[in-house]
Formats: sequence, C-alpha cells, structure tokens
Amino acid sequence: MFVLRLAKRVLPCLALGCCLIAADSPDAPAPVDWAESLLHLPVTRWFMPWLSLPPVREAARPAATCRLAPLPPITDPEALEFEASVAPNTDGLVPAMTRALQKFEHLVSSMGGTFVLKSAYRPPAYQAHLQQVWFKWMELRNNHDPGCQELQATVRAEFTGHDLIESQKPVTSSDHTRGLAFDATVFMPPARRQMRPPSVDRLAFRAGVMRPDIVRDPVHYKLVAVRERHVPSTE
Ligand SMILES: [Zn+2]
Repeated sequence: MFVLRLAKRVLPCLALGCCLIAADSPDAPAPVDWAESLLHLPVTRWFMPWLSLPPVREAARPAATCRLAPLPPITDPEALEFEASVAPNTDGLVPAMTRALQKFEHLVSSMGGTFVLKSAYRPPAYQAHLQQVWFKWMELRNNHDPGCQELQATVRAEFTGHDLIESQKPVTSSDHTRGLAFDATVFMPPARRQMRPPSVDRLAFRAGVMRPDIVRDPVHYKLVAVRERHVPSTE
C-alpha cells in the first residue's frame, strides 16, 4: 500500500522532470551532470532569469599596437654603406674643406684640446635618412602609448647614434651632401694662470671654417668662403 502511494507521487514527478529536460533548447550545450541539467532548463531560467545572462568573461585585450608608421627603411646602396660604416667619410669633402679640416684638427690638438669628427660628407639619400629619423623622433619623443614604446626605443637609438640634435632639423639640401661641411665636438683645455688657450671659434676661423649657428647646432662647421658666397646655412 505504502509502495503504491509512493509510486503515485514519485512517478508524476519523474515524468515531469523528463518532459522538462526534453523541453530544453536544442542549441544549448550538452549538460554535464544533473545539477547542471537543472540549471539549463528553460523553466529554471523563468524563475531565475539572472541565470540566463551570458557569463561575464574577461575580454581578451588585443595586443598593444602603435598606430604610427615605422621608420622608413634605407634602400639606397650608398646610404646603406654609410649607415653601416663607423668612421665619418672625408673623401667626399671638397679639397678646400679637406685642408681646413686637417688644419683645424692640428691647431686644436697642438693647443692641448680634443677634436672628435662626428660627420663629414653625406650622400643625399643618407641625408634624407637623417631627416626621417629626426622627424620620427619629434613624433615619438613624448609618446607614452605602450604600443609605441618599441618603435620609440628604435628611433631613439637611431637619433642618438647619428648625434642628431632636437633643435636642429637636418635639411634636404645640406652642406654635408655638397662636401662643404663637417660636424665635430671640439673642446679646449681650461685657462691656467696667464695661459688662456684660444677659443674653439678663433681656431676654427684660423683654419678657414666657422660655426654658422653655435647655439642650435654647435658641432656644425662650414667653410668661411661658403658663408661669404651667401650659401644658405644648413646642417
Ligand atoms: Zn652638420
């Protein structure tokens, strides 16, 4: 008798459960166990609508990318050779500039100073590369975008490697490409008692060169004769 009563109560429940499971949406993923089956039932979602909300997932962040264009690659063979070389090229200087450079270097060293030649003749394509590096550094120097940090480091290395100066933009038509200029860092020893060495610019003038823009481009020297012919001052 008791078994019969129990069967009367349990069987409808089992039948209802089977129907509810069968009524589950066909495109739902296959449930793993009975508890999950219950959670996936449409009737469960009617009473607990929050369960039907899509699970909150941490959106995968896209890899940080820089929207700025990279530094254009060097394609000119002569410019590539210059980029790879360590020593400045003095072969492309005009003869008058070669003599002035040698005389200036000799005067400085004979007075106890130091003379380091940084750049001399440059092919036009290489000058264009310097200009591109300068412009790209101006674009990137204050950039804090995480995606641009790698590019910024690359351009910084180029900028410092070429001894470029932020205040001096390399121009397209340069005295360097015409063999009429060189860049050098020159230091004279400090004055001692009555011994006051001549200034860098006095020695430069004696050698036949001068600095057209000491403040913005202190390493740039050009022939004095070039200035007299009113050729524009260029880096
Ligand atoms: Zn220069």
